[in-house]
Amino acid sequence: MTALALTRLIEPGEARAGQRILIVEDDARMRTSLRLLLDGPGRKIVEVGNGSTAIGILEMEHVDLVLLDIGLPDMSGVDVMKWIVTHRIDTSVMIVSGDDRFDVAVRALRFGAVEFVRKPDDLDDLPAKVDNTLQRRRLKAEHALMTARLEQSERLHRFLIDNSPDIVYTLDQRGHFTFINRRIESLLGFDPEALIGQHYATVVHEDDRDLARHVLNERRTDSRASSNIELRLKQNGDVHATREKHFIVTMVSAIGLYAESGADQVRGQRFVGSYGVARDITERKMAEETISFQALHDQLTQLPNRRLFKDHLELAMAQAERYAAMVGVMFIDLDRFKLVNDTHGHLEGDELLINFAKRLRNCVRAGDTVARQGGDEFTVLLPEIGQAEDATTIANKILEELRAPFQVGGQDFLATASIGISLYPRDGDNADLLLKNADIAMYEVKANGKNAFQQFAPEMSLIYQERIELENDLRRAINNAEFVLHFQPRISVSHDRVVGVEALIRWQHPTQGLLHPSGFIGLAEASGLICAISDWVLDDACARLARWQRAGHSEIRMSVNLSPLDFQRDDLVERIASRVASFGLPPDMLEIEITENLLLQDIPDVIEKLRQLRSRGVRIAIDDFGTRYSSLNYLRRFPINSIKIDQSFVRDIFAEERVSPIIQAIVGIARGFGLHLVAEGVETPFQQQVLAEQGCDEMQGFLYAAPLPAVAVEAMFGCSIAALAASRHESIAKSA
Ligand code: C2E
Ligand code: MG
Ligand code: MG
Repeated sequence: MTALALTRLIEPGEARAGQRILIVEDDARMRTSLRLLLDGPGRKIVEVGNGSTAIGILEMEHVDLVLLDIGLPDMSGVDVMKWIVTHRIDTSVMIVSGDDRFDVAVRALRFGAVEFVRKPDDLDDLPAKVDNTLQRRRLKAEHALMTARLEQSERLHRFLIDNSPDIVYTLDQRGHFTFINRRIESLLGFDPEALIGQHYATVVHEDDRDLARHVLNERRTDSRASSNIELRLKQNGDVHATREKHFIVTMVSAIGLYAESGADQVRGQRFVGSYGVARDITERKMAEETISFQALHDQLTQLPNRRLFKDHLELAMAQAERYAAMVGVMFIDLDRFKLVNDTHGHLEGDELLINFAKRLRNCVRAGDTVARQGGDEFTVLLPEIGQAEDATTIANKILEELRAPFQVGGQDFLATASIGISLYPRDGDNADLLLKNADIAMYEVKANGKNAFQQFAPEMSLIYQERIELENDLRRAINNAEFVLHFQPRISVSHDRVVGVEALIRWQHPTQGLLHPSGFIGLAEASGLICAISDWVLDDACARLARWQRAGHSEIRMSVNLSPLDFQRDDLVERIASRVASFGLPPDMLEIEITENLLLQDIPDVIEKLRQLRSRGVRIAIDDFGTRYSSLNYLRRFPINSIKIDQSFVRDIFAEERVSPIIQAIVGIARGFGLHLVAEGVETPFQQQVLAEQGCDEMQGFLYAAPLPAVAVEAMFGCSIAALAASRHESIAKSA
């Protein structure tokens, strides 16, 4: 900002203060008569007899008027005048002289004398001339004061305008600049002089030209005149190459300018142009935009958040209604995301979410909205779809897009997703309901094995409701220890007695009675509660095994079922080994049953964990063998002790077919890989006979005993197969 130099101005009072007159005359009589002639109120008259005294006074004091004689004893009156001029003394000089030579008069006037009065002839006129001179002097001083004031005021305004933080401009009637302050240069890089005569559009952002027409060259002057209108002004070239955007946002206020008269008058006034002020609000605007973006977007993925999604959804519903179209809502959950977070850490988890979000965006059209609801949950809005299939096409596309692995911690990670779809208006007439129903459909996918999509169906709601309740119950059950283990004996045909038991969990539900695992294990897995349950099962089974060992049933082996999710825990091996150690169990008396599912999922380190368990002596069995996986490759890769023939194959053994090809194949496999073989679900003596003939020695099934409480099973240890079957018969007969 340039400094403003302001001159000190003489105050009006100073100009009118008492008039001071100096009489310089060597003739004392003449001096007296001059004074008598001129004296009056408000006047101060000083008389001196020579030039040097006069100079002494002029040097010291202010004098308005000097009445100067030419012929002085010490110097000429002209010399006094010379001195006055060279010393820039602000005073008026009137020559009063007896010397009326023309050249004297000319010299005196040349040195600035205002009058030449001859004495004694002209003295009559003297009072009037003095009055006149003093009057003129006063007028001149006042005029000088006014001029200085105006100049100063002009300079002040100029200064204020040029140093204004705002752009200040005037336009003529045609919208051409007639004035613009220097601020335009620092803000937009335009030379203000070069802009004079140019149309205002030169500085307006292309997209705001229409708006500018009503704002910049405003014609109104009343309250309707443009006030605080946002307008973007563009930058000249790249003055601010550092700024990403080549414009600034301004707040413009403008009014019309009118002259009182003229040719094209409107109501007595002639429009001459406009005056306006534009304030740079770019920073504030950017801050506002950032704040509102943050309020409506997810920080991690930059996707719209739940709130913005709902806004978009509501808008889409309103539009769909108008065009009788449908709106699709997808609820997408990234399967096994927790696994990534738990095994690789949150940074890798975040990275996966960001990349997943990108892929999702690639699957949809520009007008669709992909939003993050939170965690690993995303939603997609498909406005204006013609038919339900359009949504499933996109769901397919998303699942397809996920087939390529993501990079997580430098490794390939195959992410899958569960997608639920709801449609407006079919599945709900408001945003919340549509989202909820898409979520319910998604939940259904999760419960049925994930990595797929489902359209919402009304019957899902009830199941969902029940499931939510059950999940809450399950949480409580873990704390209240509402579980109990039943044990199903496993017999050896050749040894003709019980050689082991399988621990099977039951839930003593407070209102629903004894629940079987099929009713809650899936839910426990889906809700992440399974690990706590497995801990409890391991504890209880190991404690039981230890007790039986101490009771002398050292030949009884305990089988415990684990969920694939248990293998996602890094400390699985520790959890099992520590129990074996603390209960003092022979490790090979504990067998872990896993399903083929586990081997199918690419959970990190599954083989490693199984190997470690094996190396500590714990046995591994594959449950429900033959139901899932056709390749036998994993039997070579995984350190397995035994396989359990699934009960569906055993069930297929009927009297007509003595030889089941599947059983034959499984027996062959077990033999080939040196694996121990167990048959599950043996219900008839015939099934036992066929299996035994084929070479399967160990069996489990209702033929011998159902899963029973520990005490009941313990009573069976040492009994023969015939005895078991008989008591089983008896108990069935009793219960019937
Ligand atoms: P599974 O491990 O294959 O267990 C055998 C299932 O077959 C048991 O059902 C058992 O009651 C039933 N069963 C036994 N003999 C016969 C028979 O002769 N005929 C028929 N039709 N069924 C028979 P349950 O107890 O309902 O367990 C079902 C599944 O739940 C188990 O299948 C197992 O995969 C899972 N499970 C049980 N307990 C646990 C547990 O503690 N943890 C985990 N993760 N899963 C468990
Ligand atoms: Mg089992
Ligand atoms: Mg089984």
